[in-house]
Amino acid sequence: MFCRPARSTLPAFVLLMAATTCLADVRVVDTPATATRNSHYVSNREPLAPSPLVKLPIGSIVPRGWLRRQLELEKEGMVGHLAEISPWLNFDKSSWADKQGRGQLGWEELPYWLKGYGDLGYVLKDEAVIAQARKWIKAAMDSQRDDGWFGPRTLVTHLGGKPDLWPHMLMLNVLQSCHEATGDPRAVEVMTRYMKWENSLPETAFGEGYWPKLRAGDNIESALWLYNRSGQPWLLDLARKIHRGMARWDRDVIDWHNVNLAQGFRAGTVFGMLSKEARDLESAERNYETVMGRYGQQPGGGFVGDENCRPGHVDPQGGIETCGIVEFMHSFEMLTRITGLPLWADRCEEIALNNFPASMTPDEKALHYITSVNQVQLDRNNKAPGIQNDGTMFSYSPGEVYRCCQHNVSHGWPYYAEEMWLATADNGLCASLYAPSDVTAKVAQGGSVSIREETGYPFRDGVDFKLSAQQAARFPLYLRVPQWCAAATVKINGEAVAVKTRPLSYIVLDRTWKDGDRVALQLPMRLAVRRWPKNQDAASVSYGPLGFSLAIRERWEKYGDMKAKWPEWEVFPESAWNFGLVLDAQDPARSFEIARKPGDVPLEPFTPEAAPLALKAKARKIPNWRMDRNQMVDRLQPSPVRSTEPVEEVRLIPLGAARLRIGMFPVIGDGADAHNWVSR
Ligand SMILES: [Zn+2]
Repeated sequence: MFCRPARSTLPAFVLLMAATTCLADVRVVDTPATATRNSHYVSNREPLAPSPLVKLPIGSIVPRGWLRRQLELEKEGMVGHLAEISPWLNFDKSSWADKQGRGQLGWEELPYWLKGYGDLGYVLKDEAVIAQARKWIKAAMDSQRDDGWFGPRTLVTHLGGKPDLWPHMLMLNVLQSCHEATGDPRAVEVMTRYMKWENSLPETAFGEGYWPKLRAGDNIESALWLYNRSGQPWLLDLARKIHRGMARWDRDVIDWHNVNLAQGFRAGTVFGMLSKEARDLESAERNYETVMGRYGQQPGGGFVGDENCRPGHVDPQGGIETCGIVEFMHSFEMLTRITGLPLWADRCEEIALNNFPASMTPDEKALHYITSVNQVQLDRNNKAPGIQNDGTMFSYSPGEVYRCCQHNVSHGWPYYAEEMWLATADNGLCASLYAPSDVTAKVAQGGSVSIREETGYPFRDGVDFKLSAQQAARFPLYLRVPQWCAAATVKINGEAVAVKTRPLSYIVLDRTWKDGDRVALQLPMRLAVRRWPKNQDAASVSYGPLGFSLAIRERWEKYGDMKAKWPEWEVFPESAWNFGLVLDAQDPARSFEIARKPGDVPLEPFTPEAAPLALKAKARKIPNWRMDRNQMVDRLQPSPVRSTEPVEEVRLIPLGAARLRIGMFPVIGDGADAHNWVSR
């Protein structure tokens, strides 16, 4: 394409220069190029497979708008104040904080929390949070023995005399972020000594216990992270040893616990960076399809796995644990970088935007264990056997009733913010996850460029970028085109770029960029209705990345011992929820009318009141569809469903804004194939 200079009165040679610098090589690619390696940021070194996309140092990306608000709420809410609530974060008692590793409470909780809490501080550049995280990190590093072990001494013999390696996998992530954000060389030294100790273990040590052997793909990722920084070949031996000894996700889905799935399914692909075997590299996709094909028959990117996936339990009354949501997000972020495939970023947005906000109260002061697509009452009572676990699973609590999620939820939004922008192998930048942000990074030969991203995404379909740079520089700018987007368009400085885009690709704008350049990306969203044949042929509706739920009026009731400052909450429905959709048989998407709120997307868009986007739909009540004896929404029955109730107009809101939710609907019909809903 060719850009006209803004002023035509410039001397001829300036005009010529301007014309030359505006020339852009525009192309559409399925994955970023890997013929070269990024010159400025740490990416895979030989003999590892080259990295198509590379994480920027933490702090390069400053989230703004709604995403920043989620992080601020996290700081002001449960995660930021968890030391007031959780006994596992008692610095004086924790064996993670003792120089000799003595004391109590030395398992996964502290490192789970610290993993996200530290990154929260780095991403927000919040000195108080960073200092608090630093206190824990320093204490853990100070406890390192000569042989490399650090932290709780009880873990060395925790598994029948053998070491429990799981909590340290989390602490390695803490140290990685510490180094990425602050450059602290000690974090790398501590990791190196610890991994030397690990490398002295027999291969069988990586197959011990239940959690460690299923999650050791995380340990492989940390070993390769360290190898990329230090280049010490024994780290590759360690990665191979862990791979051989651990549970083998590269072969098949080998465990059905929801959190093990959400983080374990990628282990073979992580190892594939070293083996370079297609079978390994493709194993995450294979596993994902196996899991979602059986248990992910629902909108929003989650699956039914509470606590484990169970044969016969695919109805959306079941759901995914909050740990599963954040681990899925983390896995998808990692897989985006390893494979370069935009599909993984799509999947990350899908679960983050549709399920993660609803896993917490809007003020992020409490969370629940299970988020389901159909979930109409969040009381504290037992839901088993509809949910596998006995006891409280649905109401919101900041307390230890949800002990793992209570600590592990912390990394969800910080990691998301860190992965929005990525460096490319050809010294460019990639807009991967879309949200308002500023990024500053080195490009081309090493010049620095800043890009401000202004957008109401995912509630609006336009994404505007404005570049700032001291010096003009030629580099490729990659823009992800999601699967749901049939016809993305792009303008540079107001002029349309002639490019035919396709779903699941990147638009690459390779040109000499200069200060003040603007790019306007349009990702037109459309309404889509999906039927779910493996789930009673129920229907769901989406608009771009957003799934939708019936808007159900909420009544919130406080309870709990910490009611004054940290209440627990039950949420009860105050309006009918037992609707089936009346769909246009010829064109189901035409059954909905979009209602937008004028103005900017609010900072907290994930509530029924604030949601910037809603749909109007036609529906009829299904009187026999009720809650079951445990006050769970009863399971779906085959569509189409007969109803003689009057047609009503109902409001649908984004799934992420709906804590009481029906996201999978029966479809109303009156033909010969229609069913009567059977009262259970
Ligand atoms: Zn959990």
